Amino acid sequence: MAELSPTEIAPGVHVATAEKYTTTTTIVAGADGGCLLVDPAVSVADLAALAGWLSDRGLRPVAGWSTHPHWDHLLWSRALGAAPRYATPPAVAVAAREQAGLISAVEDGAPGHDLTLFARVQPLLGHEIDWPGPRALVYAHDAHAPGHGAVFLPDSGVLIAGDMCSDVEIPLLDLDAPDPFGGYREGLRVLASVPGVHTVVPGHGHVGDDAEFRRRVTADLGYLDAVQAGGDVDDPRLTEEWLRTEHARHRARAAAARRGGRGE
Ligand SMILES: [Zn+2]
Repeated sequence: MAELSPTEIAPGVHVATAEKYTTTTTIVAGADGGCLLVDPAVSVADLAALAGWLSDRGLRPVAGWSTHPHWDHLLWSRALGAAPRYATPPAVAVAAREQAGLISAVEDGAPGHDLTLFARVQPLLGHEIDWPGPRALVYAHDAHAPGHGAVFLPDSGVLIAGDMCSDVEIPLLDLDAPDPFGGYREGLRVLASVPGVHTVVPGHGHVGDDAEFRRRVTADLGYLDAVQAGGDVDDPRLTEEWLRTEHARHRARAAAARRGGRGE
């Protein structure tokens, strides 16, 4: 059984962190034992531990949210129940269109999941998750992935940022987008404009306070500036090999853009 010890980061808001990729799962307690589950992840054992933790506390998912259509944010298990699971309409469209690739990614990255439950998200109409609990507002943009939907809990000031605002990963651009750098900047602008953020929960990494949230937005803009300028980039998050690989792809795209083409 995987270790799982969710931390209560605000009243009724718990964050569990899986070992793989420092992936977070957010649990928001609502009325009558119901809870909103955001991006449950990542291994089969992690999800089993999560389901056990929830049932030990008398919590049962009544709604799910996938922040974006990448495999590690589209997981579910039978033990988590049959709650409706939502994502933004563009994210749902991508999850459907890219289903085959997503399934092979989940089989590589976290084998053994019940694939009949994988990526079973429906489009959320509107910008607020309709569920019996604290208000949960969706802030959508196209940085990192199409239809990336952060969830903001105005009562507690918690911003569940998905794969943005990480302290352990550089900004990861959507290189399939026509303007990955512009799209990422727009995503950061959307998040920075959310009023009343007290706490940020990145999809991978560590929870931060409001000052840390601002610091990460500034660091991410600095990263984009440096890559687009084409000089040396000295970002402390450039640690692991796969991040260096993504970084090299960003640099190649920026170089191509400077030459006036799309590159790759
Ligand atoms: Zn992602």
